Amino acid sequence: QREDNDRFTRLIEAQEAAAEHFVENLRRHPQAVDYLKQRGLTGAIARDYRLGFALEAWDDLSQVLSGRFNEEELQTAGLTSRKEGGRPFDRFRGRIMFPIRDPRGRTVGFGGRLLGPGEPKYLNTPETPVFHKGQQLYGLYEARKAAPRLEELLVVEGYMDVIALAQFGLRNAVATLGTATTRDHLERLFRVVSRVVFCFDGDAAGGKAAWRALEQALPTLRDGREVRFLFLPEGEDPDTLIRQEGPEGVQARIQAAQPLSDALLEGLRRRHDMASREGRAALGTEAAKLLSTMPEGLLRSQIIGDIARLSGVSTEQFERRMGAPGSTAT
Ligand code: ATP
Ligand code: MN
Ligand code: MN
Ligand code: MN
Repeated sequence: QREDNDRFTRLIEAQEAAAEHFVENLRRHPQAVDYLKQRGLTGAIARDYRLGFALEAWDDLSQVLSGRFNEEELQTAGLTSRKEGGRPFDRFRGRIMFPIRDPRGRTVGFGGRLLGPGEPKYLNTPETPVFHKGQQLYGLYEARKAAPRLEELLVVEGYMDVIALAQFGLRNAVATLGTATTRDHLERLFRVVSRVVFCFDGDAAGGKAAWRALEQALPTLRDGREVRFLFLPEGEDPDTLIRQEGPEGVQARIQAAQPLSDALLEGLRRRHDMASREGRAALGTEAAKLLSTMPEGLLRSQIIGDIARLSGVSTEQFERRMGAPGSTAT
């Protein structure tokens, strides 16, 4: 136990030391600063989010940290990689670095974006003892620091979306790290606020991500919790949108975001042929599965009534199809 704690602390120290070095690099490399400027970011927001730069080199970070951390530690921290039998090399090269902080503000991992074209555009820290990608929410620490009493959190796809929104005063956005929203993410969000607004990119992937988030949200929807969806115009993401429409424009869209229940009914209608009994029955079958995951409550009862009507059966018939609340209909 004691050893685990020491090890944990060492890994966090390595992340912190790396973050500090990346900030130093950014100060010294105008091409990286120019990139951020060209993306419309101010120096102040770059400091708030502790943005940095990893040099286009194989061992810049390894050299700097070698006096304080051994090879194995840097490897376990995900700061270096190595090919079978080869020497370790810096994992992040030629990238703008986004430190990912835990709820206490400690850096536990990074996202890194290439300055130019190339693949992969973003690279994250791999799974480590201190970094679990599926649990992290980028920007949550910063959002809570900016406003001790948050009412609502906005969930967006990207690092740049979080930072652009913050720069324009919307300091309550967080991002999953390129992974789909999980139930665990939602439980974490609902520990902080009672309303969550999903705002994914206006493209096919964003639409799919929204439906998946809706499915994950249903089991977490106890009375008093609310989920909404803001669908962006085709081709936009929150970063591009706020630069076009300003914070007022985006605020207005957030105000008008679609309640989960509407998104659910609309999505179901879109996915099934409402003109045939077969289509309406299929809608009912899909809805039964989804609603059986939802905790009991007034919202659930309302939706059940609406779905029964849509699929052309009585509420009782539909509920029988669905089984008991919390059970999974098949
Ligand atoms: P930018 O505006 O810098 O081009 P973005 O955030 O709009 O970036 P998207 O392509 O919309 O980029 O992707 C959204 C998020 O998904 C990214 O912020 C990143 O976390 C993750 N992501 C995107 N591409 C990759 C990739 N190739 N590998 C891993 N994660 C990725
Ligand atoms: Mn996208
Ligand atoms: Mn973008
Ligand atoms: Mn995007």
